[in-house]
Amino acid sequence: TTLVDDLKARLRDVPDFPKPGIVFKDITPVLADPRLFGRVVNAMSAPFRGQHISKVVGVEARGFLLGAPLALALGAGFVPARKPGKLPYRSVVERYSLEYGADGLEMHEDALAPGERVLVVDDVLATGGTAEAAARLVKRLGGELVGFSFLIHLGFLDGGRRLAPTPVTSLLTF
Ligand code: 5GP
Repeated sequence: TTLVDDLKARLRDVPDFPKPGIVFKDITPVLADPRLFGRVVNAMSAPFRGQHISKVVGVEARGFLLGAPLALALGAGFVPARKPGKLPYRSVVERYSLEYGADGLEMHEDALAPGERVLVVDDVLATGGTAEAAARLVKRLGGELVGFSFLIHLGFLDGGRRLAPTPVTSLLTF
């Protein structure tokens, strides 16, 4: 069976989470299956092998779960991009707007050395606001953004256009 078929069989649609009208893609059944989890990490890292990625930035919280093993698979270090107020050391922040209200992402100010080649990882690309904020953090710290890697791209929300021209890869598009 193909990876796409196996993923479709294991992802769980949860209606009305976190709000009425939203159908949430629950990735926890994928993470719980060691063979499938391994195939996901392998497939997400494949397009970036040989691209000299030195840091993988994972977006809180599910981007940590995929980003950390991807970093090891690529021989890169891991950098967390966290919600405001969570990181212990001096940090830089980028704010972004949500459908209702605003949110932000932070990275430690010394998390990247200038010119480091960076891959941004998260589980789901929806409107692209979160990934765009992570990209702004990478650029502010002098990193070279090589690409974005997602498990799932919700294509109907047009997030890919927002992240262009940086390459965006995903294993599944809905
Ligand atoms: P965006 O900023 O692209 O609109 O939203 C993406 C962020 O929201 C990601 O950090 C992602 O984890 C989360 N997200 C949005 N929708 C879903 C979903 O259906 N399933 C999961 N697992 N995460 C989602």
